Amino acid sequence: MIQLKDVSKVYENGTVALDHVSIDIGKGEFVFLVGASGAGKSTFIKLLLREELPTAGEIRVAGRNVVTMPRREVPYLRRGLGVIFQDYRLLPDKTVFENVAFAMQVIEAPRRLMQRSVNAVLDVVGLRDKYKCFPRQLSGGEQQRVAIARAIVNDPAIVIADEPTGNLDPETSWDIMEIFERVNRAGTTIVMATHDRNIVDAMKRRVIAIEDGQVVRDEARGGYGYEA
Ligand code: ADP
Ligand code: ADP
Repeated sequence: MIQLKDVSKVYENGTVALDHVSIDIGKGEFVFLVGASGAGKSTFIKLLLREELPTAGEIRVAGRNVVTMPRREVPYLRRGLGVIFQDYRLLPDKTVFENVAFAMQVIEAPRRLMQRSVNAVLDVVGLRDKYKCFPRQLSGGEQQRVAIARAIVNDPAIVIADEPTGNLDPETSWDIMEIFERVNRAGTTIVMATHDRNIVDAMKRRVIAIEDGQVVRDEARGGYGYEA
């Protein structure tokens, strides 16, 4: 699903954010990406989404060559990826239903299919009864569940989450992780960058640790592995 071959990213100011990184993530895997702030996790995610191009190396995501892909194909790449951020990034003037439906309007789905799909994913995240609420009327955990619904409504092959529990209390974070487990059990590949030691240690999934732009650890059933 995701293949990086000897990928380096040097920003224009000379910062080496990724340094000869090779990573292979298969279909249906659940991968935690760990590492200190500044290690290169967000850069890795931006490369997958083609928000940045690598300075060197090859990147394949869901069967596409992300590096050589013409600009006009980038929207198709991104439609196959569900992305979730720490700060939810919902549209404040749209309801829960509209926030999720908007992701489908972008791909011009027929109205009936859209209704059915939005209701189905709101069921998955347990928010069907809040479909008329606006984001400001929801708790942080609920807003993140809306963001997950939006990310999965187009049935992406890969869900990419950047610190999705970073603003949530431990109990709410576990609710979010249960939803990710459910999505993963349905066959979706999940890549989650996180600083949440308890979650990583408890879930015993693959852990890829990045330090100073390099992969320093890659374990099939790993732990968070850092002190403090
Ligand atoms: P993480 O997500 O693990 O905190 P990042 O990928 O954001 O790490 O950052 C990796 C390194 O690249 C850091 O040194 C950061 O300051 C630098 N960096 C990130 N984005 C840019 C940018 N647009 N221009 C220059 N340097 C950047
Ligand atoms: P938390 O306990 O996480 O701080 P809140 O106190 O913000 O959550 O919300 C508690 C519950 O009340 C949530 O289910 C939220 O959806 C609901 N709620 C909060 N504000 C409103 C509102 N203005 N209209 C409708 N529901 C609301």
